[in-house]
Amino acid sequence: MSTVYRTQTARAEAGRAEAGRADVVRDGNAERLFRYRPGPDHRHYLICTRCGLSQAVDADLVEDWAERVARSSGFADVRHTLELSGVCPDCCRRRAAAT
Ligand SMILES: [Zn+2]
Ligand SMILES: [Zn+2]
Repeated sequence: MSTVYRTQTARAEAGRAEAGRADVVRDGNAERLFRYRPGPDHRHYLICTRCGLSQAVDADLVEDWAERVARSSGFADVRHTLELSGVCPDCCRRRAAAT
């Protein structure tokens, strides 16, 4: 076993113990791949700047992209934050009605 292999295994195990977020999966070549699995509190939101409404959005593309970047860069424990803000439909209607 190479040093790299051992290091990655230790890291995966540490991550699992730490936050329950690191997941070890096997691909067809029985190589270990490390997949960042977002926790239940990890969501991205569309936030209304007028009323403060926050709506969870589907961010699978962002998760996949972040994972690819992490893997190709060799960085560990890569995190990201992403927030979308704007004016919600209700506020748009209110704004339209007010003018
Ligand atoms: Zn609003
Ligand atoms: Zn995310």
